[in-house]
Amino acid sequence: LALAGCGSDDNGGSGNESSEGGGGAEGGEAGKIGVILPDTKSSVRWESADRPALEAAFDEAGVEYSIQNAEGSADTMTTIADSMLADGVTVLAIVNLDSESGAAIQEKAASQGVATIDYDRLTLGGSAEYYVSFDNNVVGELQGQGLADCLGDTEANLIYLNGSPTDNNATLFSAGAHSVLDEISTYTAVGEQAVPDWDPDQAVTIFEQLYTQADGDVQGVYAANDGLAGAVISILEKNGVNGEVPVTGQDATVEGLQNILAGDQCMTIYKSATEEAGALAEAAIALATGGEAETNGTTEDSEGGRDVPSILLEPVSITAENVGDVIDDGGQSAADVCTGE
Ligand code: BGC
Repeated sequence: LALAGCGSDDNGGSGNESSEGGGGAEGGEAGKIGVILPDTKSSVRWESADRPALEAAFDEAGVEYSIQNAEGSADTMTTIADSMLADGVTVLAIVNLDSESGAAIQEKAASQGVATIDYDRLTLGGSAEYYVSFDNNVVGELQGQGLADCLGDTEANLIYLNGSPTDNNATLFSAGAHSVLDEISTYTAVGEQAVPDWDPDQAVTIFEQLYTQADGDVQGVYAANDGLAGAVISILEKNGVNGEVPVTGQDATVEGLQNILAGDQCMTIYKSATEEAGALAEAAIALATGGEAETNGTTEDSEGGRDVPSILLEPVSITAENVGDVIDDGGQSAADVCTGE
């Protein structure tokens, strides 16, 4: 793969399911911080990017932590939360698998005097003290704009493959994309469906169905993340039109970046795990030590009827032109992106 900047880099991630660490001087003050990641299937980001970034942030702050992964099961997440509470965590951060189970976990934590934070996904009807994420409306807008830039001013039938219906982010991403693409009069939506659990395997089946229903007369695809984009590309490939039909993505995964460099994917969204994990560590330590985190806005929880104090970071749109920016920022290593296929 031709990429300016392909060379040496040693930025790698590990994939343990559970990690414990920390203990510096501040560690005693802040107690132990618990983080529960959602799964390994909806995106590689949780284990390959978020976990190492969280470990680095907590290690640097000298605070104790436990990071575990619910492996796609809300019951497992509840069990992990219970054991973290029993273990005496001072702050509990979750990436919920659905708002209902997330809210129940947060309610239980609150009843035990443990503060909670929503990491990346807002828990509707929840009680988190803070929401740490990216501006997810902007993520959707950038995806929509990216697809429009790839398509240009032409007649185009579009298919939308949205993320999990239980993920509030997926709703925001899709709304953001529609807000851009619906304004372009030459584009027509010819199919749209949400993919349960963001599962790329189910996405293959769902997309193939939508594609067939549209008689293959499809010129652009909104796919909510790189995993779903990979599923779409596999079906386009099967039909001999990969590379001709632009597909969006998100997460700047190795697979996504490689698909962009190969010309099969139009764009992705880079959301720095270092920034997001750093913001979580700061907010968690503030809560654990009785302080306040610095927020830059609020997010409306439509179900809970409240505005959640938020730290919202800025997503970056990535095309073939600026894949190198992800590498320069340490988001992926050149070795991982440039090798393989
Ligand atoms: C995250 C995305 C991720 C998706 C699937 C969303 O909530 O914001 O980055 O691709 O979940 O895990």
